[in-house]
Amino acid sequence: MRTPLVAGNWKMNGSATLAEAFGHAFTEATLPEGLEVVICPPFPYLEAAQRAFDGTPLHLGAQTLNPLHSGAHTGEVSGRMLGEFGVRYALVGHSERRQLYRENDEQVFDRLLAALSVGLTPALCVGETLSERDAGHTMEVVLRQTGFVMSRLEPEQRQRIVIAYEPVWAIGTGRTATPKQAQEVMAAIREHQARHDHELASGLRLLYGGSMNADNAAELLAQPDIDGGLVGGASLKVDDFLAICQSA
Ligand code: PGA
Repeated sequence: MRTPLVAGNWKMNGSATLAEAFGHAFTEATLPEGLEVVICPPFPYLEAAQRAFDGTPLHLGAQTLNPLHSGAHTGEVSGRMLGEFGVRYALVGHSERRQLYRENDEQVFDRLLAALSVGLTPALCVGETLSERDAGHTMEVVLRQTGFVMSRLEPEQRQRIVIAYEPVWAIGTGRTATPKQAQEVMAAIREHQARHDHELASGLRLLYGGSMNADNAAELLAQPDIDGGLVGGASLKVDDFLAICQSA
């Protein structure tokens, strides 16, 4: 059985006050048995969030990390530093990082390795653009992005990662993939891994991301290959995010 996971990605939004509001709401909340819940706030709010989430079921994640542990890299933050704030997860390869900051597969892989090396669970984000989907290249793109990373990892490392399928055209657009579209791609990711390692594939946690909200979450999360969600916009509102968690 795979442990379900719902992660909120605040991107460059939120505040220390929002972290406190999440802390309060989740202290009282009843969540589905065994659900893991993660919030990825911007770096400056990590300390406030760590305090606010203490004693709640909320875990902390980072939105990115530098591949190195330390050094002359102005403006960057290392996985080791994140660990000091109780961070347990790190997103790598989010499409906004790939597109706006030109991160390529190689750099995504380096970040993912860095996360693993300090004991963080990396969530590898993959997904096709609208033009790639329209051209019929969805599976090719998603399996290439996934395969690039998976083929370079040791079997033991592969077991420690999470994969988030986030169609780029669905991120922040209000246009969600249909449960059928999401399930189709996510089943293909699992199936592809199963060709190499059946046991790994059946334990691999796959999250859907892209305009997931309180109204569409239940149907998406009910799909057999969807083990959770990566939520952007709807993770900035306590009630919406809580409702998504409760439908997992
Ligand atoms: P969204 O973002 O839920 O606002 O579409 C998802 C993500 O980018 O992880």
